[in-house]
Amino acid sequence: MNEEKPIAYAFKFFLGAVLTVLIVMLVSITFGKIVEKRNSEDVSASAKSDNVTIVIDAGHGGEDPGSVAPDGTLEKDLNLEIANLVKALCILNGSQVKMTRTEDTLLYDYYDDLENYTGKKKIYDLKNRLKIAEEHENALYIGIHMNKFSQAKYSGTQIYYSKNNPQSYVIASSMAKSIKEYLQPSNNRQIKGADSSIYILNNIENPAILVECGFLSNENELNLLKSEEYRAKLALIIFSSICDYEI
Ligand SMILES: [Zn+2]
Repeated sequence: MNEEKPIAYAFKFFLGAVLTVLIVMLVSITFGKIVEKRNSEDVSASAKSDNVTIVIDAGHGGEDPGSVAPDGTLEKDLNLEIANLVKALCILNGSQVKMTRTEDTLLYDYYDDLENYTGKKKIYDLKNRLKIAEEHENALYIGIHMNKFSQAKYSGTQIYYSKNNPQSYVIASSMAKSIKEYLQPSNNRQIKGADSSIYILNNIENPAILVECGFLSNENELNLLKSEEYRAKLALIIFSSICDYEI
């Protein structure tokens, strides 16, 4: 029953090959645009990029799963998958990278002051992430999260920026533009300045943005986020916006 007809097999093989070529083309085009942009600007005129550390923060972890999709997919896992891809691209590009977490864990254990610790794990976790993000003077913070809403119809990447540093708005704008151009043509979401409900963005001094990659409550977007190819595209767009900042 499992035997496939040679023609069906050949067709599947052909489809696989076409898909691979398409992905390679997409990656090349995006990289091509980055290189083009780099060449078209006066790199020497902007020395701000010297020793920029990219702080990549995969939201949640450990006993805090973040949002949970109807099929049980956990936000914390998708966050880390995308964060790892962005990290790999940044390292390939020669950037300095600091991950707030590389494992399935929260960061509260590392906080020095453990007095009144009970019931405050989440606060300590966020304080630790902020501490890491502020350790380097010339750092750019990128928070990776997933969205969820009570109504399944909502979808699309939403980007928040910290109001404490004007560069945050610039990076968020560039990323939102690329998301619409290359990945989600019908995404008309505007970038939003973070208020006190987003602890890290509200307290950080370095340039900082938080990317809510998509809605786990939307079946179509959830399926996309679960696919490696889509996550790779998202990571590439996040990375290209980081490159724009670094130039
Ligand atoms: Zn989250």
